[in-house]
Amino acid sequence: MANIEMGKTYSPSEFEEKIYKLWEDNGCFIANAKSEKPKFSIVLPPPNITAQLHMGHAFDHTLQDVLCRFKRMTGHEVLWLPGTDHASIATEVKVWDAMREEGIDVDKVSREEFLKRANQWKEKYVARITKQMKRIGNSCDWSRQRFTMDEGCNKAVNKYFVENYEKGLIYKGSRMINWCVGCGTSISDAEVEHEEKEGNFYHLKYMIKGTDEFLEIATTRPETLLGDTAVAVNPTDERFKDVIGKTVIVPIVNREVPVVADAYVDLETGTGALKITPSHDVNDYAIGERHDLESICVISLDGTMNENADKYQGMTREQCRKEIVSQLKDENLLVKIVPHNHNVGTCYRCHKVVEPMVSEQWFMNMDEVAKRGLDILNKEFKFVPQRFEKIYVNWLEGIRDWCISRQLWWGHRIPAYYCDDCNKTHVALEMPKSCSCGSSKFTQDEDVLDTWFSSALWPFSTMGYPEKTDDLEAFYPTNVLVTGYDIIFFWVARMVFAGLSQTDKAPFDSVLIHGLVRDEKGRKMSKSLGNGIDPLEVIDKYGADALRFMLITGNTPGNDQRFQFERVEAARNFANKLWNASRFVIMGVSSFDSDINSDDKLTLSDKWILTRLDAVSKKVFDYAEKLDFGAGGDVLYDFVWNEYCDWYIETSKIRLYGEDENAKKTAEKVLMYVLKKILKLLEPFMPFITEEINSLISDNILMNEVFEPVKAEFLDENAVNEMQVLMDAIRSMRNARNELDVPPSKKAKAYIYTKDYKNCFAENSSYLIFLASCNEVIMLDEDKEPEFDNIVAVTSTCKIYIPSDDIIDYKKEFDRLSKEKVKLDKEISRLEKKLSNKAFTDKAPQAVVDKENEKLENYQKMMNDVLLGIKKIESKL
Ligand SMILES: [Zn+2]
Ligand SMILES: [Zn+2]
Repeated sequence: MANIEMGKTYSPSEFEEKIYKLWEDNGCFIANAKSEKPKFSIVLPPPNITAQLHMGHAFDHTLQDVLCRFKRMTGHEVLWLPGTDHASIATEVKVWDAMREEGIDVDKVSREEFLKRANQWKEKYVARITKQMKRIGNSCDWSRQRFTMDEGCNKAVNKYFVENYEKGLIYKGSRMINWCVGCGTSISDAEVEHEEKEGNFYHLKYMIKGTDEFLEIATTRPETLLGDTAVAVNPTDERFKDVIGKTVIVPIVNREVPVVADAYVDLETGTGALKITPSHDVNDYAIGERHDLESICVISLDGTMNENADKYQGMTREQCRKEIVSQLKDENLLVKIVPHNHNVGTCYRCHKVVEPMVSEQWFMNMDEVAKRGLDILNKEFKFVPQRFEKIYVNWLEGIRDWCISRQLWWGHRIPAYYCDDCNKTHVALEMPKSCSCGSSKFTQDEDVLDTWFSSALWPFSTMGYPEKTDDLEAFYPTNVLVTGYDIIFFWVARMVFAGLSQTDKAPFDSVLIHGLVRDEKGRKMSKSLGNGIDPLEVIDKYGADALRFMLITGNTPGNDQRFQFERVEAARNFANKLWNASRFVIMGVSSFDSDINSDDKLTLSDKWILTRLDAVSKKVFDYAEKLDFGAGGDVLYDFVWNEYCDWYIETSKIRLYGEDENAKKTAEKVLMYVLKKILKLLEPFMPFITEEINSLISDNILMNEVFEPVKAEFLDENAVNEMQVLMDAIRSMRNARNELDVPPSKKAKAYIYTKDYKNCFAENSSYLIFLASCNEVIMLDEDKEPEFDNIVAVTSTCKIYIPSDDIIDYKKEFDRLSKEKVKLDKEISRLEKKLSNKAFTDKAPQAVVDKENEKLENYQKMMNDVLLGIKKIESKL
């Protein structure tokens, strides 16, 4: 027996922390850019520092960890680069909330004070998130941990901005943007969600100047009429062909505006005539540009009506709408109000209605990069599963210039400096020393950049860009990006743009898109529903390996999955099974030697398990190559549980408990050999338990080891076939015995007829003896039923006759039949009595009488069988 103690039960909490420390202390996660090995790299999608990690992160991170560990085990130098995202607007909102909760008068807080608070927030959450990631088992290179707003990333951001400004692709201009009144900032098109809201169509009269006639116009936002500068109709619309070019009067403000013809106007919608407010509607803005219309802004950035709204100044949009409608009614300019549900753009963060506004902002031209982004798809990078490329393509085809400035404090401040004296704009990596006017005083732009502007650079800013570093040389472009489908356009597309723009390369080869982790009922996990499950709580209870295995298996790539505790339990049971099997082997062998050599006489089951191990490992690597880790996990689960534990270990006992020392030694070696391979193959999925078990039998760190394929000389396909034949036979014999409730201790002879596997059975009769309670195996020469009473077990390759005498306990059977006879006797005499009673047979309906007769007949038949049985057994007692 090996001199080793292994806990009786699997208790992950006793070793997971220790194992993680072992990896860290030995630098197992640290990538070497100078290594000769082939390189593999992934950047972790940086979690937002707004909160701790949720189950979706646990899934996302496990996928990446499994992938990285697989690559290490195939001899790659792996860099998994971790970090966190400052998440500009999302964090800013939370920091303000926290300050308000503390009773701080936020109106008095300076930019500096705010940033100090935000940085404290960042420190706290980065520490928390890092700790969580370590509990999950993430094998990230912590020596390279980054933050989107750290010094290096900031340099990269400035360079990206300045270079694109110089190319003319970044510009400042007045454009229609989405303004969130709630967050007090512009937001990008991608951040606008669309919701169905109840509302009305207000039909208004716009009088045609100098006549009593009017144009009827339907609008959902009557308050914007204060900013109207035209009415538009479709040039082909017969109804309006006489009014094009005429002047109409905007109600309330009595502004005289032209009627213009524009093909954008839909003939079918509303009344066919549109009021045009270039300042407050995206489409009106475009029409305004085409017809050179004035743009009058009437809503201020806080959502109230501004000085151009005259007497309505200071009112909210809602109040103003009410007042305007009532005034229109008074002036007899309101035709009707028709209830109408319409699609309203809302802010993805605060869900307030987004106000389209013309505002001076920084933009990035997307035309060229979008074209290139489409061009390189499936040439330089691909989506896995491929169906997700549709989201990418659709977004790119409809893309507009990206509004990149935000009226916030938490973020990368825009590297634009305005001369205090002549107001000239200088865009530069640092504050300029002097202006062409001679001034040396500058003020930096107050705004910060959209949070996606810096995360777009993540794959290379984290590797030292803009410097030329060893890391960039070795690890860029990265290989795989793992992320959820919900941020394909927010993030994936922008990384492609930035990569092309700054490095002339796609930043990754493959984008592995995974689904969401939903709750048991299939709902999205969310704070408002309170149905989120904390990954750490699951780890505390079941261990990180169980959580990981559950998240990885049982779902197909790209699809959502449901979080079910039964599935976590099943994964934990699997870990338990592995623990117990390992314990049996480790405590049972005389040494941990697994060096199988030519002195070892391999048995059928040895050859079988080694050949199967080889096939399974190839399958697992195949799936890993296709990034389908779930399927690989399932294959391993079946192999470990059904083949290694349930069959191989059982057959090995024949030799372990036998007399032949050489055979015993070989069995021990094969047991160890397969166990070691199983540990290595399972390591990516369940790194803690496998490393812990490995530490008992080896001085090496399992995660550092590469996978050596099973030696070709051990492989024997024929053995797999023959072992299958034997296992089928054993299963079939066990089933037959189970049906008769025969205890395993009751041994029986087996008479076997098989056409093709006579030698196989004859040579391996010990398996049947050991595993199917046989005491003798007799091969039959012809396919003929033996003379003796028997039970037959059949498989596709053999027939097995088990003598009834061997397995049936005749005394017990005699007692059972005797009891049966008494019962039947009673029933028969009861029915005979009933049917001989004329009162019954005369009165009862014929159907009832027939039924009773039928019953009696049945009982009599059963009685015959019972009597026959008793007679047979009596002769054997
Ligand atoms: Zn908002
Ligand atoms: Zn100047």
